[in-house]
Amino acid sequence: MSDYQFFAQVNKAFDKAAQHSRFDKGLLHQIKICNTVYHVTFPLRRDDGSIEVIQGWRVEHSHHKLPTKGGIRFSTTVNEDETMALAALMTYKCAVVDVPFGGAKGGIKIDKNNFSDAEIERITRRYTFELIKKDFIGPGSDVPAPDYGTGAREMGWILDTYRQLSNDINSEGCVTGKPIPQGGIRGRTEATGRGVFFGVREACKNKDDMKELGLEPSIEGKTFVVQGLGNVGYHSAKYMSEAGAKLVGVAEIEGSIYDPNGIDLEKLVEYRKETGSIIGFESTKELENNKAVMEAECDILIPAALENQINADNASNVKAKIIAEAANGPTTSEAHEIMKSRGALIIPDNYLNAGGVTVSYFEWLKNLSHVRFGRLEKRAEETSYRKILSVVENISDRTFTEEEMQSLAHGAGEYELVDSGLEETMVNAYNEINELRKKHNIDLRTAAFLNAIEKVGIMYEQMGIFP
Ligand code: GLU
Repeated sequence: MSDYQFFAQVNKAFDKAAQHSRFDKGLLHQIKICNTVYHVTFPLRRDDGSIEVIQGWRVEHSHHKLPTKGGIRFSTTVNEDETMALAALMTYKCAVVDVPFGGAKGGIKIDKNNFSDAEIERITRRYTFELIKKDFIGPGSDVPAPDYGTGAREMGWILDTYRQLSNDINSEGCVTGKPIPQGGIRGRTEATGRGVFFGVREACKNKDDMKELGLEPSIEGKTFVVQGLGNVGYHSAKYMSEAGAKLVGVAEIEGSIYDPNGIDLEKLVEYRKETGSIIGFESTKELENNKAVMEAECDILIPAALENQINADNASNVKAKIIAEAANGPTTSEAHEIMKSRGALIIPDNYLNAGGVTVSYFEWLKNLSHVRFGRLEKRAEETSYRKILSVVENISDRTFTEEEMQSLAHGAGEYELVDSGLEETMVNAYNEINELRKKHNIDLRTAAFLNAIEKVGIMYEQMGIFP
């Protein structure tokens, strides 16, 4: 599929939704295009002394709100088109969940496995330096985060590099997804997967939709397959399993496995750590190749890897009734139509994986306020709950044990506040796009795009055009 163009795919979905919007062509064009595209090349001195040229990008898709926001990807798939598409998706995703950022994305075209940790650190720091030079990073301008192939470690290096070169009091807010001691927030690592779970749970609560799919209106008992056991795939599968859904298939780079009786996620992760592969795990069956399990019998398919995984080649073989897009752009527009025409419910990426950026927003707020969420009120809440409980004790003949007291008189700490903010966000956004879906008789993806177009469009409508 060498002719695959990711940005054009995103724009196709945008155009479909735009037909239902009130904005004129010029304004829609302004929403769609990428405002700034930065392509950088720099030399890396390898551990063996040789020099290798590294290519990177940072795209700021929309400045209708600042800062712009989006992850940095380390992958061989990275190119300008991919980075533009992902930046655009960030704009729409932030709008759908009411996170007040424009969209951006960055990427470095490398295979991480071919570089030592020290080399990855040099690449990350040099890339950050290049971003600083051109004003493509800063707490008020553009704030990166983890994405495919990066995590808290890389974000820590980005912050450290930025801080060496800036004495901004808010410099901690220049990047999110950081390690906690460096200004990270509890709950960020699992946030995208946790958000995927909240979104799928919300979709599964809808009695009419479930009836149409021939499914029960709950997550419990549903079978699911996950593609990718990275941060997003693992956490999505974890929360789905904890809620009573049954993991029956997993796809990873080395191959795919299936077991209709259920797969123990934690044991599988342990097994992969030991053997370097998911193949041969317990009683699972190895399928022909690393995508085959996506066509296996299941209720929910969760693609949690890269774009273009469900396309014209395999869409008609996908049997899942619900496609939960944890990855960005996993379904091509052709595949979307094929699966939709057989009645599948597609929960779109630009809503479903927004949990990551939502908690990034909370992290950024924490960094700007320089105080941990819950620090001021946690103990005051506990004290006042204890007072209420002792009144309850006095007017009843009940005496609470200290254990009961502790669980009832519990003030919310950072993790609980983050989790409740995330749940609130995902539930509200689902209902918002579901209303639009009903109102215009469109699918959820089109509804999410339409919702984003309305919110971004209003900003552009009111923006001054400077001479
Ligand atoms: N990389 C994640 C995404 O695609 C998170 C971005 C962020 O937190 O800024 O949504």
